[in-house]
Amino acid sequence: MTAINRRFFFKGAGVLAGVAGGLETLDAAAQKPGARPRRIIFMVADGMSPSVLPLAEQFSLRVRGKGLLWQALLNRAEARRGWMDMASLDSLVTDSSSASSSWGSGSRIFNGWVNMLPDGTRLTPICDLVRDKGWLTALVTTATVTHATPAGFAASVRRRDDEHLIAEQYLDKVDVILGGGRRFFAPDSRKDAKDLAAAFRAAGYSYAENRQQMQAQAAAAKRMLGLFSPSHVPYTVDHRHNEAAQKLVPTLAEMSGTALSMLEKQNKPFLIQIEGARVDHAAHSNDAAGLLWDQIAFDEAIETVLRFAEGRPDTLVVITSDHGNSNPGLVGMGIEYRQSNACFERLAGIKASFSSISPRLAGTAEYAMDAQQTAGVAGGAPSVARIQELAEQYLGFPFTQEEAEILHRCAAGERKLCVNRQLDSAVGILGQVVGNHTGIHWTGTTHTSDYTLVTALGPGADRFAGFIRNTSVFDTLTDLAGIRFRNPSMDPEKAGKFREAAFTPRLRPDWA
Ligand SMILES: [Zn+2]
Repeated sequence: MTAINRRFFFKGAGVLAGVAGGLETLDAAAQKPGARPRRIIFMVADGMSPSVLPLAEQFSLRVRGKGLLWQALLNRAEARRGWMDMASLDSLVTDSSSASSSWGSGSRIFNGWVNMLPDGTRLTPICDLVRDKGWLTALVTTATVTHATPAGFAASVRRRDDEHLIAEQYLDKVDVILGGGRRFFAPDSRKDAKDLAAAFRAAGYSYAENRQQMQAQAAAAKRMLGLFSPSHVPYTVDHRHNEAAQKLVPTLAEMSGTALSMLEKQNKPFLIQIEGARVDHAAHSNDAAGLLWDQIAFDEAIETVLRFAEGRPDTLVVITSDHGNSNPGLVGMGIEYRQSNACFERLAGIKASFSSISPRLAGTAEYAMDAQQTAGVAGGAPSVARIQELAEQYLGFPFTQEEAEILHRCAAGERKLCVNRQLDSAVGILGQVVGNHTGIHWTGTTHTSDYTLVTALGPGADRFAGFIRNTSVFDTLTDLAGIRFRNPSMDPEKAGKFREAAFTPRLRPDWA
């Protein structure tokens, strides 16, 4: 271990110091036979490949001078640890709607559906069930609040893209809803022109559109709909470099803290799902800096949650992911891999997400939060010189002449620039070019079949240890909430009969 690495290592180990006492209390509660939580906090780093945690740990040590809380929990006896098999009904590779539905209903379903069997049978999501038991519910995310992962706990629809329908299903079911997705609640952007935000207000929800409103209203409100962007909230790497965005858009940690305080003051049991959604979006975009900064933002939300759970031992905290995505890895660079560290350091100097850079390189629009990437640039492909300027400005290093020329050809719509078909795209080519400098390379631009890491603390945490199946999360959470309920399920063989009819034609690049 070099001197600098030793310093990083010990700083990393100390990251838990503030909450270590609280972990012991949670552990004592976990060890009481038959103990049940009154609060369930379920945290999801969406699309976090197993390789992301070690990368984010090293990145965090470099940019924050301390490691990740999640990583530090791996060394603590108080935290139970496991791996989870996240397969969907007919694919080893799940999407987020099927993944979250497996937790939310206990049944594996087709990718792209939300809590519905292939024959159209609606499954009852966990928010309905705990609500009937008198629990409060909350969904917090950096995606649209109607995105697949939050929806899997509270909605049932045929297509995850029908977010306007999912939005309607939250009314009077979810007490605190914080994230993006204003366009699914506003009359001018909904196909049916319904003013859904007004319907929530009429039902007693406080309504916030920015950070200040959220904070000002939280003390008096029991229910809240907080929508901080028309679509997803900005990537953390963009948020950090944009003062206006920082004033308007709360961080995941701030949203989580607000939701927890609102729920707690009502003195009722509650279930909350907290999603760091843009880890996944950055992985789809092969954007390593975007991904690592959002993983850090997720870790800051973990800190908020653990500080909340300190002194509240009847709290179960589950921290996991729903699937891998594009599996980034730091590769050996240079002779005897001596360049890998220096390449990795370059990530710290990147000032913008690919979502905000690539529209200038190879997209159709100016800054778009959706990260929809298409070939061709409005007004023509940028010149090689302009591409070099963008690299210096946003990434902090120049491309080689050859790389800049390839990006220029890619922006002009040329393909077959790369043999890997997934990577032969605007984001794939940019990811490869940037990877030549940062050492981060990707397997593709879609989800992967990896098991996901689970870490749990508090009463019931034992049931997340070892190797578990995604559907068991529903059984565990309902059991811990004192609910006896089982949704119908379908075996893969029978589901095969429905596969043709169930085909979802449009695969979105930002499927999360
Ligand atoms: Zn995804």
